[in-house]
Amino acid sequence: MSSLVQYHPRRFHKFQYIYPVVSRRAGGLSIGVNLSPNAQCNFSCVYCQVLAENQDNSVRKDNSVRKDNSAQKDNSARKNDPATSIDLELLGSELRELVGMVNDGSLFRDTWLSCTPLEKQVLRDIAFSGDGEPTLSLQFPDAVHWVTAVRRELCTESTKIVLITNGSTLHAAPLRNTLKTLLANNGEIWAKLDAGTPDYFRTIARSTIPYEKILANLTEFSKTNPLVIQSCFVLLHGKEPDNEEIRHYTEHLKLMDQIQRVQIYTVARRTPESWVLPLSNEQLNKISETVRELTGLQVDSFYST
Ligand code: SF4
Repeated sequence: MSSLVQYHPRRFHKFQYIYPVVSRRAGGLSIGVNLSPNAQCNFSCVYCQVLAENQDNSVRKDNSVRKDNSAQKDNSARKNDPATSIDLELLGSELRELVGMVNDGSLFRDTWLSCTPLEKQVLRDIAFSGDGEPTLSLQFPDAVHWVTAVRRELCTESTKIVLITNGSTLHAAPLRNTLKTLLANNGEIWAKLDAGTPDYFRTIARSTIPYEKILANLTEFSKTNPLVIQSCFVLLHGKEPDNEEIRHYTEHLKLMDQIQRVQIYTVARRTPESWVLPLSNEQLNKISETVRELTGLQVDSFYST
């Protein structure tokens, strides 16, 4: 099982936008939706798997260059840009085909997923995740409509639609209705919070977006919407986050309203930086226990193996 959860290719057969993974955090099969063909993201996390995979090719070697390019283009140009535009009909038909393979069992019979334990052969969610920050795609709202339509038609009621986000756009007014639609379709929003202080945030996320802005987005959003917080903690140059960092982090969590649960995890796959390594199970448990005690929230732990 551990090799299954460590193997997360975001390309599957002929598909461009859709891929299956057996996910630790989903607790079974998750179908990923990739809206970031050019790996567009406004973070550059030290543990980012996409950065690690793309280190040897040109997809996302230099985050700053990628951001400047996208900033120079207006929205309509970006929508028509082959580097960023999504063929939504193709996305919909790929999703339909893959859900069909789950439903008729061929996904677990005829592909590398045949070693999936029986209890994990359940479609838990369809997740906007992929190679970058999904909400930066101008077609995110349309993609949500396609995915909700396929879910309604082919999936069980319990199948979730998950948005995995770094939280940088949760304040954006144009996304408000889309996020409501997602939540109304058994949706969950899993937002990243990996730090308790601005310094640590800058070290981990390597983003120009201020930590205070991300915190404000999460806190404000959680006043009217449920939120799952997901936090990746790692060893940086051999050091785990210290007690003060975790204490600050818990103080921020306590200011948020509708937190459904907190997912605390560490890296399970190769990182782009040799000085970023997974926490041991003991180190992760210690953080989870502290967060549980200080916040009273449900905390789920996900280990490196
Ligand atoms: S937010 Fe996600 S996609 Fe963006 S750099 Fe961080 S881990 Fe990678």
